Amino acid sequence: MLAPMNSMPKTFPPELLAQLQSRVPLLWLNPGLGSAMPADAPTVADVAAAETRLVRCAGLMSVLFPELEACAGRGESELVEATRLQRAMGSDPDRDGTWFIKADHALPIAGSIKARGGFHEVLALAESIAVGHDVLSPDEDRRQLASEPARALFAQHTVTVGSTGNLGLSIGVMAAALGFKAIVHMSTDAKTWKKDRLRMRGVQVIEHDGDYAAAVAAGRAQALAAPRSHFVDDERSLMLFLGYAAAARYLATQLATAGRAVDASHPLFVYIPCGVGGAPGGITYGLKALFGEHVHCFFAEPVASPCMLVQLASQQSDPISVYDIGLDNRTEADGLAVGQASHLVSPLMAAQLSGVFTVSDQQLYAQLLQVLQAEGIELEPSAAAGVGGPAWLTSSNAGRDYLRRHGLSLAGATHIIWSTGGSLVPQEEHRRFQDHGRQISGQSRPCQSHSH
Ligand SMILES: *Cc1c(COP(=O)(O)O)cnc(C)c1O
Repeated sequence: MLAPMNSMPKTFPPELLAQLQSRVPLLWLNPGLGSAMPADAPTVADVAAAETRLVRCAGLMSVLFPELEACAGRGESELVEATRLQRAMGSDPDRDGTWFIKADHALPIAGSIKARGGFHEVLALAESIAVGHDVLSPDEDRRQLASEPARALFAQHTVTVGSTGNLGLSIGVMAAALGFKAIVHMSTDAKTWKKDRLRMRGVQVIEHDGDYAAAVAAGRAQALAAPRSHFVDDERSLMLFLGYAAAARYLATQLATAGRAVDASHPLFVYIPCGVGGAPGGITYGLKALFGEHVHCFFAEPVASPCMLVQLASQQSDPISVYDIGLDNRTEADGLAVGQASHLVSPLMAAQLSGVFTVSDQQLYAQLLQVLQAEGIELEPSAAAGVGGPAWLTSSNAGRDYLRRHGLSLAGATHIIWSTGGSLVPQEEHRRFQDHGRQISGQSRPCQSHSH
């Protein structure tokens, strides 16, 4: 084995280590679930403040993005019943509970889950700068942030972010819309269309060799050195985290509207793709605050990049990366290609996360195709990572063990597969993903309607 064992904590379970290194997908259960939260954890009041901010900025959002007028400025995603997908994957709703897709792939403007955290952080920054310069009074209508004096003020400030793609899109688009100077540091492996799209919006894109962490580090260093510069720190930002956490309350309303109770005999299971952990961690934190022990959150991570799993399984606070255990962090799921989990989020998830399952690139493409064929939804590879969640629960020893230990029966359960990105992906890119899925699944390509 190539793992540099000197950096490995002694507590890391050797059997788990071997299994992770073999890259065979697995379900890992978090032994810390239900333990005490760290004393400095964000509070429920912090989440409520984020919810309030998004509500009071809805009018502003409609001014900046006219496509939001129809939903009164509140960019939210649908909760879609996914019974066709469920049956296609061999699961019976009467026996296993009902599947839904939380459609963040179609979130307006940014087309991914990153709209939640990213928009919230830029809005909070804009409010704070405007109030600090007397361009906005604390109780004033936030549409004032789209006024000429506000734009002139924001033009003197820079918003910088390091990103594999989707966070850059979300921050870049929002910052540019308010008139900030926006700089996005990306790793060279970020998709070309994402870079092009940002440049079209007037965002400066700086490319770096190396992985996501290198892009973040470069962005952080440059932002710290520049005056009037704000760095959106995906590895430790509280404002991003709270923006994600604010998703929970609207989801609770959607569940109630759909007639889905959440209680001891109606458990809620949520499966969310995990990169650095901010998005899935924030959502888990928000849902735990509302549903407590009746919600069970699982993260999905690529077999090459299970950074949250590795951090939590080490049961220590010293940072540990997937490289430390001999993995290479190479995956087609560019939104999830993160070697080291967020320092802000991992201590919180140590107490709240039910478990993590890993996904191979092959599975991502196969699942992306299954979602398309059953539900007509086009996802990017990262966004399909959660699809295998319900089957892990019902069909693996670890999953059945979890259900038994918590005394859960599934007949009244709700399963939510969080689909995290894809609606802005160009058509030719989708076609490539789907062709790849067909190759893997042994299906041939449908005939083209045109002939040569
Ligand atoms: C960023 C991203 C995630 C995961 O969010 P993190 O905050 O990095 O954990 C999941 N899916 C997609 C499509 C993403 O872009």
